Amino acid sequence: MPGAEAPTGASSRGASTPDAPDELTGGTTGGTTALGDRRFAMTVDVEDYFQVWAFSGVIARSSWDGFARRVGDTTRRALDMFDAAGAKATFFALGWVAEREPRLMREIVERGHELASHGYDHAKAFDQTADEFRADVKKAKSIIEDASGAAVNGYRAPGFSFDARTPFAYEALAAAGYAYSSSLHPIAHDHYGDPTAPRSPFRRDGVLEAPVATASIMGRRLSAAGGGWFRASPYPAARRLLATAARQLEGPVVFYFHPWEIDPEQPRITSAPAKSRLRHYLNLGCMQTKLERLLRDRGVHGGAGWGRLDVALGLAPADAAAARRVA
Ligand SMILES: [Zn+2]
Repeated sequence: MPGAEAPTGASSRGASTPDAPDELTGGTTGGTTALGDRRFAMTVDVEDYFQVWAFSGVIARSSWDGFARRVGDTTRRALDMFDAAGAKATFFALGWVAEREPRLMREIVERGHELASHGYDHAKAFDQTADEFRADVKKAKSIIEDASGAAVNGYRAPGFSFDARTPFAYEALAAAGYAYSSSLHPIAHDHYGDPTAPRSPFRRDGVLEAPVATASIMGRRLSAAGGGWFRASPYPAARRLLATAARQLEGPVVFYFHPWEIDPEQPRITSAPAKSRLRHYLNLGCMQTKLERLLRDRGVHGGAGWGRLDVALGLAPADAAAARRVA
């Protein structure tokens, strides 16, 4: 994406961490780069299993209210996991979910996490007109703020759907009052991603964009960001990718997953295409254990732990446990 400006609020911290193991240290310039210098941002896209894009061809948006919601229980499972590991996170919630689960929204904030927006009903940015997108991000922000009582500053596009088709995106976010976005997955992928997008944070039209983590290995960009990639990989391989990303990226290393990924008991959507089912249901049974391992892995975060994206971007103080309240 041309025209990117350097970020102002995304510098990494200066202290080194002596206890990072050898395999996760060492920079490209010959010096040693302790990964504890980096800010590791944990993020959760709060949506239910029946709202994912992979099933959108067989589950109509209008039928969502006919499904028994599991997102409250599964998001609380993530909250408990973070508490146990002493981690904080940013939760990008759908406005649709916030309308129906206001208590969950308040709980996320009360437990010290950042609450942010994932749009209203999971429409991809590149499937909307500029006007539709403006209305969507504005509506989602106000619903989530009303439900939680907390200010919403961050946005993540459903399906990382910012690319050349969405030149209006950042201007629309700024107009709606968002300070930052984490809507780019700068890789080549069949459903999403812009392999030409910057990999490190940049500022565009008044909004700070923090792409999710990628590693460049022998000229190929690979996702190090979590989700299905993390579920599919053996833990040591995912860990090495994250370590590479941390060495290569400026600013935050952004990881993400969905509450439905730690819900192996979710009802199966048998009418979905085989490829979608394979991706969606792969390794659901071991995802939580892998995430718990990642949260505690000092070799990755150098003891600093995983935190909120607004904090990693320098947009909120490190002790931002009490989110700024909406007046
Ligand atoms: Zn999503």
